[in-house]
Amino acid sequence: AMTTREPTPDFTAQLPGDGRAGARSRELFNAALAVIPGGVNSPVRAFKSVGGDPPFIRAARGPYLLTEDGVTLVDYVGTWGPAILGHAHPEVIDAVCRAAKDGLSFGACSAAEVEFAELLCTVVPALHGGLVRLVSSGTEATMSALRLARGFTGRSKIIKADGGYHGHADMLLVAAGSGAATLGIPGSEGVPPSTVRDTLTVPFNDLAAVEKVLDEYRGAVAAIIIEPVPGNMGCVPPRPGYLQGLRDLCTREGVVLIFDEVMSGFRVALGGASQRYGVTPDLVCLGKIVGGGMPVGAYGGKREIMQHVAPLGHVYQAGTLSGNPVAVAAGLTTLQILVRDDPYPALEAIAAAVANGIAARAAQLGIPLANNRVGAMFTGFFREGDVHDYDDAKQSDLAAFAEFHREMLAHGVYLAPSQFEASFVSLAHDQAAIDHTLAAADAALAAVARRHA
Ligand code: PMP
Repeated sequence: AMTTREPTPDFTAQLPGDGRAGARSRELFNAALAVIPGGVNSPVRAFKSVGGDPPFIRAARGPYLLTEDGVTLVDYVGTWGPAILGHAHPEVIDAVCRAAKDGLSFGACSAAEVEFAELLCTVVPALHGGLVRLVSSGTEATMSALRLARGFTGRSKIIKADGGYHGHADMLLVAAGSGAATLGIPGSEGVPPSTVRDTLTVPFNDLAAVEKVLDEYRGAVAAIIIEPVPGNMGCVPPRPGYLQGLRDLCTREGVVLIFDEVMSGFRVALGGASQRYGVTPDLVCLGKIVGGGMPVGAYGGKREIMQHVAPLGHVYQAGTLSGNPVAVAAGLTTLQILVRDDPYPALEAIAAAVANGIAARAAQLGIPLANNRVGAMFTGFFREGDVHDYDDAKQSDLAAFAEFHREMLAHGVYLAPSQFEASFVSLAHDQAAIDHTLAAADAALAAVARRHA
């Protein structure tokens, strides 16, 4: 049935409330279960690992979500990263509306694509002096970059990290983090062994492991693809020297170094992890923030590599909606605001206030919590000791996390429903939102202490 949309009420002045699925969300979820697998259009939205049903979202503004049950929530998912300026930023919405009035898609060249590519090449270190191609998702960016690396080197093997997630292309569904980790699916059914035969995995933050694999497969490895700041095993900072070590090994062995900055790009710094850590890969993959909430991805890098992409070269990659004018309007406007306003010191302060605030409360209650944060992304792992890789992350107390998640939601805070995801803050997370979050954390951690002490 067609739903006529009532005007959205102003919910930003309303106090955050109990966000657990109410009658309307449950009704919608039951209807969804009948026609959508698991009721969700991406498995990370399912509440399988934390229990309960997902609240349905009607609208989003600033740091807040409005559920279909009429409840306001402080949001730390931020549409899994893109909402860095806060939801429905007026300038971004305005640019999208103006672009939409001129047509939703041309499938032909447009001026905004050029302006966008020029800006990307200025801001992203790997794109300085290079070339960039727009696609419509992070998945497309990584699979295209890998095809290119294989075409460029004439080699087949690729190396990825255990718990690293690079989208759902067949060859990358090996030891994948994020939703695959959460659901305990080791790889995926439907992926032929021949497709992943050339995918080699190493623990994150372990240079010796990479060196060993490169020795064993000398001359056969096309690329190392890595999240320079993984977010898909939860947030894990690279050890000092790790990224530079990868850079040196790749240069020595003629391997294409690919930073998957779909999550870290424009988040841990304007120029992403590459800028933050001073290491430049050969190719970079972008997504999420680059589209400002619309479906945009990008891959690019060194000119001598990118020249192999069709129509310049013989590595084929295409897309009907690539460079779509409405999506580009959202991405371009978002990046222009990031350049203009330099919100990174403010984002750092907001994320530190929230992450450290939660960690301090956990410490007071004697709850072990590894507080990992890089810039505007963080994860508190419910475990003793540090988290440097996926094995460490897996030793977290998942029951404690589930309890924490449920209680945070009941107290008006929306977190990703998995221990193996990062939380994202936006520039719109003001003191009121932070205060509310920390008050909710007081209650949620007290519940964890009661049941898991
Ligand atoms: N790479 C990374 C690092 C990601 O976090 C994601 C998505 N979470 C992807 C690739 C895939 O992007 P998309 O979901 O847009 O296909």
